[in-house]
Amino acid sequence: MEHALPDTVPVPWPDPSAEPPEATRAALERAVAVLAAGGLVAIPTETVYGLAAVAVDPLAVGRIFTAKGRQSTNPLIVHVADTAMAKSLAAEWPPVAEQITARFWPGPVTVVVPRGPRVPEIVTAGGETVALRCPAHPLVRRLIAMLGAPLAAPSANRSLRLSPTTAGHVYESLGARVDLILDGGPCAAGIESTVIDCTATDPVILRPGPVTVDDLGRLLGRPVESAADGGTGPARSPGRLRRHYAPRTPLEVTDDAPRRVRQWARSGRRIGWLCLDPDAPATRAIAGSTDAVVVPMPADPRAYGSRLYATLHALDRRSLDVIVVDAPPEAPGWDAIRDRLERASATAGEDDTAGDDAGGGAEAAE
Ligand code: AMP
Ligand code: MG
Repeated sequence: MEHALPDTVPVPWPDPSAEPPEATRAALERAVAVLAAGGLVAIPTETVYGLAAVAVDPLAVGRIFTAKGRQSTNPLIVHVADTAMAKSLAAEWPPVAEQITARFWPGPVTVVVPRGPRVPEIVTAGGETVALRCPAHPLVRRLIAMLGAPLAAPSANRSLRLSPTTAGHVYESLGARVDLILDGGPCAAGIESTVIDCTATDPVILRPGPVTVDDLGRLLGRPVESAADGGTGPARSPGRLRRHYAPRTPLEVTDDAPRRVRQWARSGRRIGWLCLDPDAPATRAIAGSTDAVVVPMPADPRAYGSRLYATLHALDRRSLDVIVVDAPPEAPGWDAIRDRLERASATAGEDDTAGDDAGGGAEAAE
């Protein structure tokens, strides 16, 4: 199963309230067969593309780690068709998990709950908790329902690299390491799910995502703690590496992009600039006087998130020396974007020991 390049099969489903078109149904059946045989299928979700295997098949799950070059200490998120399937995988279903999933499922929220006996240890990296999510993408829920089993699915890219938001990104990153790619078009949210630890009375956000700290605070009627700003230790979310989600091109986030772009340009570097204020006079002046590739980015965090990885993937193909990124606003709606950009700009550190070629940050311009 592992040597041929994978087929990429389109799976349009224009009206999810009706049955899928015949070709889509056939593609789903093919995916079910690959998964049931222990293979890997790349699937579209509303966050990013996932690399899926049957979650209750430890050998199949092992192939995910190999294909990604992922550390075995980094647990996987298990995707379910509905809350009933989620409960069947949990030893306990805490009231706060019920409250959060009743409001945000299906959707880009992952709850961490006590692990039930059906979940193999390899999925949870030996831990006693399991991360569960019911995706909004109707195609994945249909696939899981047809299969009758949950899917373990991290992002469908080599470890530490940019997450894929199109089928083409998956093909470029994984190639023959995946057996089949279902092409559902570009992902809507474009950024990974919000991960929430529900094992204590007060939930804690382990990874910011499309559902924000404010969304959760409003639901629960009290402020919600976020462990994302440094507090996340290995015990709580083992997979949080400082450098992650990174393009190959060195990336830096700055409050003074015009100055940095000018500095880099003076030293002859080829520059990409993710710019929040394309019409500012300083931006226009630089765009006119350097070869910097200026990419205007949306001022709305959702729109920004949906475009971020695709933009970085595109810039990565242009052999630039550095990507300069305007620091996003401090407002809570931007938490997930700030988190991903921080990780993308971190240089490889001691905790980044996955079998991938993580490395290299921008050197000083001067
Ligand atoms: P990804 O690697 O993008 O699939 O993201 C998975 C995220 O979920 C990582 O940040 C993991 O650390 C986190 N995660 C998965 N399972 C657990 C768990 N049982 N407890 C805490 N965090 C988890
Ligand atoms: Mg990932």
